[in-house]
Amino acid sequence: MKKIMLIYPPGDIYQRGEDRCQLNINKSAVNSARACNDLGYASSILKNRGYSTFLKDYQSEKLNINNLYTDIKNFLPDVIFLSTTNATMFDDIKIINNIKKIYPDIVFILKGAVFYNCPQDIFNIADLNNIDYMIGGEEEFIIGDLLDAHFNNKKEIPNIQGIVYKDNNKFIITPNTNFEDNLDSLPFPDRYAMNNKLYTIPDTGEPLATISTSRGCPSSCIYCLSPVISGKKVRFRSAQNIIEEMEECYFKHNIRNFFFKADTFTINKQWTVELCKKISESHLNGKIRWVANSRVDTVDEEMLNCMKKAGCFLVAFGLESGTDKTLKNIKKNTTVEKNYNTIRMAKKAGLQTVGFYIIGFPWETKEDIEKTKKAIFKNNTDFIEVHIATPFVGTELYNMLNKENKIHNEIYGKNHFNCINTFDTDLTPSYVEKYRRKIVFQYYIRPNYIIPKLIQIIKTPKILLNYIKYGIRLIKNTLLG
Ligand code: SF4
Repeated sequence: MKKIMLIYPPGDIYQRGEDRCQLNINKSAVNSARACNDLGYASSILKNRGYSTFLKDYQSEKLNINNLYTDIKNFLPDVIFLSTTNATMFDDIKIINNIKKIYPDIVFILKGAVFYNCPQDIFNIADLNNIDYMIGGEEEFIIGDLLDAHFNNKKEIPNIQGIVYKDNNKFIITPNTNFEDNLDSLPFPDRYAMNNKLYTIPDTGEPLATISTSRGCPSSCIYCLSPVISGKKVRFRSAQNIIEEMEECYFKHNIRNFFFKADTFTINKQWTVELCKKISESHLNGKIRWVANSRVDTVDEEMLNCMKKAGCFLVAFGLESGTDKTLKNIKKNTTVEKNYNTIRMAKKAGLQTVGFYIIGFPWETKEDIEKTKKAIFKNNTDFIEVHIATPFVGTELYNMLNKENKIHNEIYGKNHFNCINTFDTDLTPSYVEKYRRKIVFQYYIRPNYIIPKLIQIIKTPKILLNYIKYGIRLIKNTLLG
């Protein structure tokens, strides 16, 4: 039986499983590490095909490279599958190169959005010689066929979509021509192999399962990878299939908190309401709680009330900017006023809210990002996260800046907290990075924020302690970062 090791390598904690959002968790204001569902899916799929798997998230376990070597020595894998990000790619490749010196026969597969329709310049800037395959497409629909072809019929490899493979030491990129529609056909992520306790909801610190509910986004936000790597057509799982996975989490793994991972959970009202109604009618009614993400132009009162009734307690909105100019330029198709009104509507439905914002687009001025700061305080969501505009390869923003010859290879190795100089305005990268930290610090460390929150949580010491923990991380990142 062939042995496959599935890993997040040691190092800083990054959101590796969510290809559009490759965030450094330790630097973030409110995010916690999400479950390694990409590894979990791969494990279930490979076990079903007769492989033996070993799964470990070294970064979240806070294990080091020696722990990884010990596990390799004990498990002796034929293949190591490693999930990478734009920011960690170079460190991850170094780890692979070092393992390869000791174990030259191990086959390496590197998976990450950075390899989607793989840009040629990656081959010049990254040492990929020890990598046998790279996966940029949806790995759940690739990994089984790829390993079957590798071990049993190498002639099939060129027919597998969304990969990079080697032929006579030359890298060959296969196209991504279509997305798999039948999401219900996937097994559930292998939560028997995942350490579910590592992934927690920030307030109570209880385990949080990520449930992938749909894929794809019809919108065209110029900074976002989702429509590129998941397609513009939205593909939904059935409510029944989602509830079965939640029931497995609840009854077999004792997990009652869920993050519904979708590019926009609320994109289709009929589907969202049906799922919420089915949750309310299921054995899970009243026992679970969940969070989801949304766009301000996709929700109404009926939907928000229905979500609340089904256990939703928090919705994250991509509010992005405090100027209509930027909202228009980034093709968000919303307005500052619409953002404000939707947040009021969500609060009225009894939901907590998260506002995600982005500053540092190439056309923005100091005055623009000051306006975004004002909108952030006016919207007054329960939590905020402020990112810096990052032109990931494949996005419209990247193509635009590349055409103008404003970026070269600077984007590799970066994440949403790094600023690249693409400005024609009075902004500079260091100003934007400092201003981001200032907004986040001033937002959370103000009496108007702290006192109402304390009143809400004072009687729940567990939540209070977790807030203090996040508060310390925030101060460290914003004042010292
Ligand atoms: S709405 Fe915009 S930001 Fe959200 S997933 Fe779609 S394209 Fe990305």
